[in-house]
Amino acid sequence: METLQSTKAKNFLRLTRRSFLGVGAAFAGEALSGRAFSASFGTAKAATGVPEISPHTWKKLKNNLSGQLVRYGQFGYTRLSAPNNARYRGIKPAGIAVCANADDVAACLQWCRQENIPLATRSGGHSYAGYSCTHGLLINLSSLDAWSYDETSGRVTVGGGILNSAVYTALGSVDRSITHGRCSTVGAAGFLLGGGIGFEMRARGMGSDKLVSTEVVTADGSILTANASDYSDLFWACRGGAGGNFGVNTEFTLETFPVDRIAVFDLTWTGASDELIISVIRALEAAPNTLGSKVYMEPTTSTKFGSPPEIMLRIYGQYHGTKTELMEILSPMTAAAKPASETVESLPYWEGQYFLAEDGTPACYQSRSRFVNSSLPESFIEEVRLWMSRWEKSQGGAYLSLFQTGGAINDYAADATAFVHRSSQWLFDLGIGWDPSQSLQSKHRAHRWQNGFYAALVPIAGGGAFQNFPDPSLTDWEDAYYGSNLPRLRTIKTKYDPGNLFRFHQSIRPL
Ligand SMILES: Cc1cc2nc3c(=O)[nH]c(=O)nc-3n(C[C@H](O)[C@H](O)[C@H](O)COP(=O)(O)OP(=O)(O)OC[C@H]3O[C@@H](n4cnc5c(N)ncnc54)[C@H](O)[C@@H]3O)c2cc1C
Repeated sequence: METLQSTKAKNFLRLTRRSFLGVGAAFAGEALSGRAFSASFGTAKAATGVPEISPHTWKKLKNNLSGQLVRYGQFGYTRLSAPNNARYRGIKPAGIAVCANADDVAACLQWCRQENIPLATRSGGHSYAGYSCTHGLLINLSSLDAWSYDETSGRVTVGGGILNSAVYTALGSVDRSITHGRCSTVGAAGFLLGGGIGFEMRARGMGSDKLVSTEVVTADGSILTANASDYSDLFWACRGGAGGNFGVNTEFTLETFPVDRIAVFDLTWTGASDELIISVIRALEAAPNTLGSKVYMEPTTSTKFGSPPEIMLRIYGQYHGTKTELMEILSPMTAAAKPASETVESLPYWEGQYFLAEDGTPACYQSRSRFVNSSLPESFIEEVRLWMSRWEKSQGGAYLSLFQTGGAINDYAADATAFVHRSSQWLFDLGIGWDPSQSLQSKHRAHRWQNGFYAALVPIAGGGAFQNFPDPSLTDWEDAYYGSNLPRLRTIKTKYDPGNLFRFHQSIRPL
């Protein structure tokens, strides 16, 4: 490693999707019933799922850690145990091991195996479905936040617990980039292991497509370096097989590319018509792959008394080119209707990323996704209009996001990596958010609305669901996340985790 630095997460105070939901500060959380996967462990208490662990047993773990062990009630517990999705705040770990290195991780795995304690691994804690929550031992990787850049190879190596914000700082210091997300507090591990989408994906492929090596601690405590020649099956699984399934990744090495200036944009329309939405979609579909974008729609109360909710439309993203070229690409949409707000700017690449970043404020939410395997048909927009008009303000917040995919993502065969979704043009993410103090009835109405809307969009979309946006209500999740790659993933799971140590509600099972 040429340089080795430990970085502190930098917060970017940008408007977030969650603050659009209007529930950004909803931190009280909801205890989740029915997520008692820990009940399948012998030591689990049936009622709460919390295992009984004696002081002697805890000591055995503590003696083998160079990092910290934080038990329930101890200083730092509340901060370390809280997940991003406050819906899962009720799943309290019995203890949290803040691992200092891969040996600590191996010690945790050995202890969990021997003592029959359930576990979960956490980097950024942003799993939509709370899959980095457990009643047992939480393996916290936040101390593994080192990074290094090798000038000769142009590769960056990052620790398994590093956050996006620290990755931005690392890459920004050498004017390089990877395909990365927008949320500064998401963990690089969860992002990469589930594929990793971002504004660079149409030009460069998925985040995980440029992974060249990863260090993994497997269920038996082995510390393996997986790449194209060594443990190549495990390496294949780590590029889209989703976090938490095969081991604990303690380091990632990725190829990077040089960056210069980019043009960024952020346009908003209130009361968007179908014609405007279609002209936005078609203009984006006609744009070169060097344009990365997200279309965001939110139902809003109509200003006309007695009329159904209207659609607030926002598009934002980046373009590798000049501001003039970008204005030309956007011109069909601005000609269709004048935006209520409009920013188009040319900026140094990393300043542009700070402009586009979101902070990921914790809240209660559920997201449902599908890849769209074609140009977005008008029937899709018709359903959007219909369902947005049925939304009621008392239900809480709601949104539909469309990420433009295609381009370089589809240059890879579906079995080139574990990320199977290689023929899409769009990915939709239909989300709801609520305040825990909302009435149960209004929460049920919100879920019914989301499920009805989702059921209408699925047949039009035709693709699978995104494993990085895990959706606990999916029944066909194995097929939806992994499609034709599932049998191979299960074979690899059987080889590296035959005892199913790494398990959660939607984990890949051994054969
Ligand atoms: C606000 C927000 C914005 C997002 N933006 C994007 C985006 O732009 N692009 C995108 O692709 N996704 C995005 N996501 C989804 C995100 O990438 C996934 O939820 C990802 O899994 C989160 O990773 P994490 O480390 O933060 O979460 P965690 O909850 O810590 O982990 C997620 C899963 O991975 C496992 N895991 C964590 N660390 C490791 C490790 N080191 N080794 C093995 N398993 C591990 C966990 O056990 C869990 O199952 C976003 C999510 C949120 C909430």
